Amino acid sequence: MPRVADRKSWRKPAAPPVEAPQTPPEAAPRSHYHTSQHHGHHHDPDPALDVELVDHTERLPLRSKRTRRLEEKLARKKRTATTPLCLEDMPFEILDAILLCCQPRDLFAMSRVSKGYRDFIKQEGSRIAKSIIERRYPCLAACFLRPVLLENIQDLGVRRHMGHPKVTSRVKGHMFHHIPTIRGELVCSCPTCYHRWNALGLLVDFAHWQDFLDKGEAIPRIAFGRRPMWNKVLLNRNMQVVLKGIRDPLWYARILEKHLESTTRAIRRQVLNKSNKRQHYRLTDQDLQEGTDHFLEAEGPPTIDYPFHRDSYYMLEAYLPNRSWIDGKWLYLPASLHERDVAGLINSLFPVPGEEEAEG
Ligand SMILES: [Zn+2]
Repeated sequence: MPRVADRKSWRKPAAPPVEAPQTPPEAAPRSHYHTSQHHGHHHDPDPALDVELVDHTERLPLRSKRTRRLEEKLARKKRTATTPLCLEDMPFEILDAILLCCQPRDLFAMSRVSKGYRDFIKQEGSRIAKSIIERRYPCLAACFLRPVLLENIQDLGVRRHMGHPKVTSRVKGHMFHHIPTIRGELVCSCPTCYHRWNALGLLVDFAHWQDFLDKGEAIPRIAFGRRPMWNKVLLNRNMQVVLKGIRDPLWYARILEKHLESTTRAIRRQVLNKSNKRQHYRLTDQDLQEGTDHFLEAEGPPTIDYPFHRDSYYMLEAYLPNRSWIDGKWLYLPASLHERDVAGLINSLFPVPGEEEAEG
């Protein structure tokens, strides 16, 4: 059943076309003949014109914006009449509400369906991802804050200092086999952001080895001083993922989703591990189905040690740094530590001469 608006538009073609010429070109000779009569030459008409005149005029093809719009509307109408309804036909609010209930991996899958979906996720993905993080991963997001991108430091003087080789060269030699080196030319390398980078790098690597850990297979060991190609490739891939996670909330949400999966798999492993007598997080089947980190808000073993090596993965249960259990609840390190560290670093590496002498 067409809508009222469509019906109105359907009447429009019957109206005379706006740009159609009023006088057909073929009528020109006839017009000339009549004009001659008015000038008094009807006694001596041209014999060539003394034949029965036949009207050869026909409607000219219409070329105007208006007709093009009408044709497009007609084509659309035909399409919608034959094409079944799909997700794109849904009102925006309903589609939005559905996507907010999805997991980050669903949004990635959706963006591979068609160009329309990809464009939609490109446009709306960040906003949806932030809502998903708030709803599903509040604990993980508080434990794993993202390092600050240099381009996001508003104060140009501070940004220039933090990108200075004096600052970035401090972290170049800090190499782990399982964590990519921080990209100091892109990301703030203050102590807080350095630890945030390493934590995200660890999540991505820990997720990579979950199948090995579930199957009880040994993770390949790397001899001291060696840098095998497979590990370079893996670290490079992990670095790209971390950088995407820092730049894009949807990738950040995906990293947190993967870490929730790593954590639940690790808890299940450690609960079955008879040699592990430590306290465990309580994880039910319902928690698993919900796909949220809410069960991590209950009391559980705090993360005290940093996994400096992949060997730590075998016993690692829930890597949740930057929080402490105090007075019956978890307290998280504040995000403002980055500003404090940046100020301290600039003061120590770029002292202002006048102030230094005054202090001396
Ligand atoms: Zn920082």
